[in-house]
Amino acid sequence: MPAEVDFSSALVYAIPLRTRFRGITVREGMLIEGPAGWGEFCPFADYDDAESVFWLLAAVEQATRPPPPPVRDRIPVNCTVPAVGPERAHEIVAASGCTTAKVKVADHPDALAEDLARVEAVRAALGPPGRVRVDANAVWDVDTAVRSLRLLDRAAGGLEYAEQPCRTLDELAAVRRAVDVPIAADESIRRADDPLRVAVAGAADIAVVKGTPLGGARRALRVAEAAGLPCVVSSALETSVGLAGQLALAAALPELPYACGLGTLSLFTGDVVGDGVSLRPVGGSLSVPAAPPPPDPERLAEFRLTDPEREQWWRDRLARVRALAHAGPS
Ligand SMILES: [Mg+2]
Repeated sequence: MPAEVDFSSALVYAIPLRTRFRGITVREGMLIEGPAGWGEFCPFADYDDAESVFWLLAAVEQATRPPPPPVRDRIPVNCTVPAVGPERAHEIVAASGCTTAKVKVADHPDALAEDLARVEAVRAALGPPGRVRVDANAVWDVDTAVRSLRLLDRAAGGLEYAEQPCRTLDELAAVRRAVDVPIAADESIRRADDPLRVAVAGAADIAVVKGTPLGGARRALRVAEAAGLPCVVSSALETSVGLAGQLALAAALPELPYACGLGTLSLFTGDVVGDGVSLRPVGGSLSVPAAPPPPDPERLAEFRLTDPEREQWWRDRLARVRALAHAGPS
């Protein structure tokens, strides 16, 4: 770990989400400052210390190194539709200005009827040229995935792709053979023991790469190259500080054929940076900042985590993960 990052002054934030997402209602994380700017350490609670090392490497990379050389300065983004009713889904898409929507499906075991209604509403809001993708977060078995994707594909008037319908690569490959919908791998890459070696090519058509859990933009670029598939960059629900690193990754990828999942600040009730530099999409795209925007004192006053026990939990976690990182990532 570079010595120039002052971990003792790391800030802990807690920002309520507008809708429950990924099982959480408040997003928490830490902001650290280094010579190149600010980085964000924000592993979800279900990431253990060993996995969290990569989140720390991403934060430290951003705080200590300039972004990798960009090849584009604007990134098209999708809007994200959580497991909400069809009316709300329509509103979210219509308000987003995006032409691509990612729809959460399979939120609970009997969700299919709700999923079909949500996907139909999203298509109605986007119109025929829009693109609809779904994300099942690895919860289906192969039969359920095949049956559900055929119905969802019809309800959507054609799906752009389905993200991680099942858990394993073998299951993804079986689903991919059975349906016409292209398959994207997300968790299979992000949570693999070695994302640089995961043989995703036969199991998926598209690779979702997330710079924050993959150890930063540079390592994620190597993962993308190793995957050998078209890539979509997707957020890990960061504030604008961490999103800047993800945008740097999206800006540096040689090809970027799909809209990226980086418009996720719309899920937050606020941000840690000032309104003028907050990374919210305009007209369905985000411009790539030259450096991560710094936290704003007023926003921090609003969103600083105030529960002392919870703050200590984060500081202890950071200390443990730093100790692991010193020993070298596995
Ligand atoms: Mg996903």
